[in-house]
Amino acid sequence: MSTNKKHSSDIDMKRDEKNYDGKGLEEGIVKPMLRWYDHQARILPWREDPQPYKVWVSEIMLQQTRVEAVKPFYDRFLKALPTIEDLAFCKEDKLMKLWEGLGYYNRVRNMQKAALQVMEQFGGQLPSDYEELLTLSGIGSYTAGAISSIAYQKKAPAVDGNVLRVITRLTLNEGDILKQSVKKEVEKQVMEIIPEDRPGDFNQSLIELGAIICVPNGVPKCQECPVAFCCQAFKTGRIDEFPKKKQKQKRKIEEKTVLVIQETDRVGIHKRDRKGLLPGLYELPNLSGHLTQEEVIDYLEVSGFRPLRIQPLETAKHIFSHVEWRMIGYVIRIEDLTNKEEKDNSLDLIFEDPKKAEEHYSIPAAFSAYTAYMNIRLGQDKYKES
Ligand code: SF4
Repeated sequence: MSTNKKHSSDIDMKRDEKNYDGKGLEEGIVKPMLRWYDHQARILPWREDPQPYKVWVSEIMLQQTRVEAVKPFYDRFLKALPTIEDLAFCKEDKLMKLWEGLGYYNRVRNMQKAALQVMEQFGGQLPSDYEELLTLSGIGSYTAGAISSIAYQKKAPAVDGNVLRVITRLTLNEGDILKQSVKKEVEKQVMEIIPEDRPGDFNQSLIELGAIICVPNGVPKCQECPVAFCCQAFKTGRIDEFPKKKQKQKRKIEEKTVLVIQETDRVGIHKRDRKGLLPGLYELPNLSGHLTQEEVIDYLEVSGFRPLRIQPLETAKHIFSHVEWRMIGYVIRIEDLTNKEEKDNSLDLIFEDPKKAEEHYSIPAAFSAYTAYMNIRLGQDKYKES
């Protein structure tokens, strides 16, 4: 693949237009898309060596996370877990630690479940068949299509948000792209034109076009688009209207009070429940609602601690897909826990050296505003020079 940054030439564009019969999405876009992809696609680590496991890891990481943010995680993950077998039998805490900073931890939990399925049902080799891939945990139609077409060169559609945007603009599809029926319709349209000889590259060309040219926010770069000659939205000046998307439900707001509890040189952390949001990860102790200093002190005393000092911290916000946390925080110094009874505190806190907490416990980014007060860096930050 060339990295030469030249655009589709005017001659190519005119020839493409001539070969196009104006009936919406049809094979006439295949050649210009592949030509554009060969010259313009970004060089990304997972494209250099598209083995099934690597394609799978990259596609799962790229869901909900930007390309630039994924790159360092991708390398580190594959170094630590180079095979499906390594992933299948990885200890939970290590796995969560490798994912720390990417968020949406269910993605990696499902990957591990799927890896176990692959070990048990497919002899350790990811299946190439689209339908078989769909039976694996956490693999939906997009990921199945991506693995099947990119890693195995099989004809299968890989329709993500980028592709939905491109196709609905090309064809003036008025359907709500959040509806499964619209996605299925687009998958069918794409399937009909995927070329036998380069299914993976064609799928990637559509994804890439949506990521860097036919962009979601701001103005798409239609002047650089290889399929502008047949884009109905471009021709009719209706780009802003597509894709159609119904407003999502508003997020639930939850107020929280986060506690940075310091005892000698150690800080208190807590293991979250195995069910619900961020299951099984570690967190800073926190309470529902916005509590006053007095309320926090009372709470800690009732829980068996002896607070010595308390200081308010800044407010912070973290947005999950359906919930938004609005947090206030306090740093509290407590008296040393000298005897065993005190150590078995009623809050089930683990008191740990901050360095050790940073290395061994996976604390979600939602707490990053407050972990800084414990000298704990999360996600990507902990690999930066201090
Ligand atoms: Fe998107 Fe513009 Fe290309 Fe149409 S012409 S597919 S709107 S970038």
